[in-house]
Amino acid sequence: MDTRLLVLPVPQRVAFEAGECWLPEPLTVGPTGSAAYDATIRRELNARTARQARTAQVQFLPAAGAPADLAEFATDPEGYALVAAANGVSVWAAQPAGHLYAALTLRQILRQCGHRIPCLRIGDKPKLRHRGAMLSFPQGHTAYRTTLMRHIVPELARWKINALYLYLESYFDFPSLPHFAGPGAMTPDDAKELDRFCQAYNIQLIPQLNVMAHCGEILTLQKYHHLVECPPNQDFRTLPGFNLCATTPEVRTLVETMLTDLFGCFSAPLIHVGGDEVSSLGECPRCQPHLTELGKPGLYLDYFGNVRDIAAKHGRKIGIWGDMLLHYYKDAKPEDRKRVFAPLRQNTVIYDWHYSGGSPDTLKFFVAEGFETIACSSTHLCYSSALWPGQAVNQRLLFGDAVAAGALGGMTTAWCNFTGLHEEHFNYLFASAGTVLWSGPGDKTLAPDLDLATFEKAYLLQRYGFTNDTLTRYWHILGDARGPVLSVLAPLHGVNPRKCLYHTDNVLTFWKHYAHLLRDDGLERYRTGIADARRIWEQVKTDTAAGVDPYLPYQEAPLLMHEHLLRRYEMTEAVYAAYDDAAKAQFEDPKLCTKRLNEAADRLLAHVNDFPPIEKYLTAARKEFGLDRSSQLRLAATRRKMEELAAFLRSLATSGRPLPAFIQMHDVFLDVPRTNWYGDREHEWATGPARFQRYTLQSGPWTAAVANADREADQA
Ligand SMILES: [Zn+2]
Repeated sequence: MDTRLLVLPVPQRVAFEAGECWLPEPLTVGPTGSAAYDATIRRELNARTARQARTAQVQFLPAAGAPADLAEFATDPEGYALVAAANGVSVWAAQPAGHLYAALTLRQILRQCGHRIPCLRIGDKPKLRHRGAMLSFPQGHTAYRTTLMRHIVPELARWKINALYLYLESYFDFPSLPHFAGPGAMTPDDAKELDRFCQAYNIQLIPQLNVMAHCGEILTLQKYHHLVECPPNQDFRTLPGFNLCATTPEVRTLVETMLTDLFGCFSAPLIHVGGDEVSSLGECPRCQPHLTELGKPGLYLDYFGNVRDIAAKHGRKIGIWGDMLLHYYKDAKPEDRKRVFAPLRQNTVIYDWHYSGGSPDTLKFFVAEGFETIACSSTHLCYSSALWPGQAVNQRLLFGDAVAAGALGGMTTAWCNFTGLHEEHFNYLFASAGTVLWSGPGDKTLAPDLDLATFEKAYLLQRYGFTNDTLTRYWHILGDARGPVLSVLAPLHGVNPRKCLYHTDNVLTFWKHYAHLLRDDGLERYRTGIADARRIWEQVKTDTAAGVDPYLPYQEAPLLMHEHLLRRYEMTEAVYAAYDDAAKAQFEDPKLCTKRLNEAADRLLAHVNDFPPIEKYLTAARKEFGLDRSSQLRLAATRRKMEELAAFLRSLATSGRPLPAFIQMHDVFLDVPRTNWYGDREHEWATGPARFQRYTLQSGPWTAAVANADREADQA
């Protein structure tokens, strides 16, 4: 076997001993004392309960009997001591969670070694007590999928994650607010079922509301629109809606209703209530008197103090993001600073979020202020178009700071499951985060004695059963910022590629934004990088044992995206060349002009043949992951508008109109141009067949001042 364990997270202490421990199938296990964990352990080890506990091959024993050198691990609330000897495996733990974690470690050892494992002694316990992962639902309106969640929860438990956050904002089928959530929302039955399922894996299921900012889902209902926080110089009826008013009693009642409903569905002692990125607070006439009395920090703390008190009535704590508290603290007068946090200090957990590296000062600050503090990194999903393995470095830095600051723990946020990708595509980064949260960071490596290459090797083995590195090579080709694909697209190599495909109905958008990057040798490099990724992905597919992981095939998503964008780009260049020829010939050689315009239209329509792979993918991703329907609608609209553009190109041949610059096809024909003045050559866009006419629309309020208004006032 390998000279080291390929187990994630890395146990704190491992010592190999002479000899082997044979664990023939079917494995027999003893009871842990927790019926729920026993069932989980049997499932995870593919084992059955021994008829007599003392004959079991794997024995779960109380911490008191642990070998002296491993006692410090066995007595930890989640720790364990595990000894594999010739006569079987013994596990000592103080709590059932420790027994469960030992079993999950054993599962990974069996996966690496088969049924003859080396004799060894393991002592293990977590560096951080709270180890969270988050999934987002409202951003993209991801529909709830039970099968997916039942797949994700055991995966997270295997990385020893013990808290699963569901970012709901208000996208939940609240029993007290019928018809509120809209289609696809998680229901109370879903929540209760998932809550039970998580408990059996030692995972707290923690819902996340947002009760001040990010409340667009509430405020875009007419029934609640008047609850928007509205500056005095505005009419609330004309505002889009983002912040709830902090003082209106109706808001407080609504929030209490939502909280109470969630407490009835989720058993966790903690609920996250948002509180981040507040852009408007205390500005409306209702708030003004309170603002004068309390100031913005006071108003914010009064509001969340009330939320905290509602939670306390139900025996729960609240969690809030740290950004606004840092902001208000910074702005407070020195003499006020001491009391800024006083109203919240009890029963409030702070989530200090930093997605691009460490933040030792803010973490130390919150801990010193007496808060239970959780450091929040991310998967960077909303900033990228493929798994970005480099984010593991940022996780290590931040969670390392959390350990050093004495924080309660860390969690990995995940935003915006939409436009073609879901967190499941980024599962690697939940494993890397779980590893650092449990094992702590290494000095220069991901975790102590675990470099990134070894992490990846262990991850592929444990998640997918792969013993080669083909899949990680695929991920790096598509995901590394300096890799062969993204380096060509820099600086637009983050989320832009997938937005140019799934967040537009304009077939020319990718070309418009990337032409300057793909000219010269860029296109060839992009093509080569994509071809390499395709070759390696085909290898991944042949390596796959049938049914090894139902979600593995979806890892093809970023490749399908790039392949499509490449074809779209090649199409556009060909259309451009024909169109440019047509323009040159237009009034000298009308026949040639017509021929070229027809060629341009034909080439454009041939691109329709490139759609089935991504359409098929989106349909499947909708079914499996609940990804947004809007992306499917945008693709369908893109095709429709391509047909219109093709018809327009053909019509230009006989129109007598000098051909508009090609970019006008993007800016005017396929988009609605907005301007406060008039569009260039709008007179030509306003004539011709109605189907092809276009006009500009106002882009914003007309701000030009009335001439000599001051003089008018003087005369009054
Ligand atoms: Zn207000």
